[in-house]
Amino acid sequence: MRILLLGGTTEARRLAGLVAGEHTVITSLAGRTTDPLRPAGELRIGGFGGVDGLAGYLRDRDVDVVVDATHPFAATMSGHAVLACAAVGVPLLVVRRPGWTAGPGDEWHRVASLDAAAALLPRLGRRVFLTTGRQGIAAFAGLDECWFLARSVEPPTGVTPRNLEVLLDRGPFTVDGERELLVRHRAEVLVTKDSGGPAAKLVAARELGVPVLMVDRPAAPDAPLVSTADAAVTWLRALGR
Ligand code: NAP
Repeated sequence: MRILLLGGTTEARRLAGLVAGEHTVITSLAGRTTDPLRPAGELRIGGFGGVDGLAGYLRDRDVDVVVDATHPFAATMSGHAVLACAAVGVPLLVVRRPGWTAGPGDEWHRVASLDAAAALLPRLGRRVFLTTGRQGIAAFAGLDECWFLARSVEPPTGVTPRNLEVLLDRGPFTVDGERELLVRHRAEVLVTKDSGGPAAKLVAARELGVPVLMVDRPAAPDAPLVSTADAAVTWLRALGR
C-alpha cells in the first residue's frame, strides 16, 4: 500500500518506522521546524494548498490510505484530511494519543482555548511556566503583569509578552529537570495544552503544589481513531490492500 502519513509527532515517526518495511510510506511535515527528526521512508515538507491541494496530491500520488498522526491541536490539517479523503474516496485513520486526566493532588483549571487561558491566568499566578509551544505564546502578549518562562523548540515569532524569557529545548523531559526548572524560576503556575504523552511537567507541578492551566483539545476529527502506532499497524493490516 502507499500510505500518506501526516506527521509532526513522535507517534507518527514511530509509525513510519513500523510500516516502512511493509508499505510505501510518505511522511508529510508542515515545515515548522528547521531541523526535523527524519522518519523512515519518504519525506515531503510543506502545506498541500488546502483541501483541494491535498485531494489533488492523493490522486497524483495514487495514495491508498491516509493516516493523520498530526498533533491533537493541528485541527486545520485534520479537518482538511477528512474532507480530501472523502472527496477522493481514500480511507482515513486518525492516530491520537489520549489526553491527560487530573489525579489526586492535582490542581488543574481546564479552559477551552489559549485566549481563555490568558484571561484566567493572572488570577492563578504571576510567574508562569508557559509550555504551549511557540505558536501559543502570542495569546499571552497582553499580560504585562505576568512574567513568563516560555519553552519551545524554535524561537517565537510575532507578538510576545513584555516580560519573557525563552527557553529553547525539545523533549523528552524528566521529572527532576522539570522540578528544578519550576523551583529555580519560582513558577507559580504551569500553562500547557492537553497534548497527552509523557507528563514529567505535570508530575513535577503536582509534587510542588503548582496549579496547572490546561487548554482543552479541539474535537477529534470524524474518522476511525486509534491511540497508538501499534494499533494503527493492526488497523492497516485489517485494511489489507
Ligand atoms: P494546522 O494549524 O492544523 O495546519 C495549518 C496548515 O499547515 C494546514 O492547513 C496545512 O497547510 C499545513 N500543515 C499542517 N500539518 C501539515 C502536515 N503534517 N503536512 C503538510 N502540511 C501541513 O497545524 P499546526 O497546528 O500549525 O501544526 C503544524 C504541524 O506541527 C502539524 O504537522 C503538527 O503535527 C505539528 N505540531 C503541532 C503542534 C501544535 O500544538 N499545534 C505541536 C507539535 C507539533 P495546507 O492547507 O497548505 O495544506
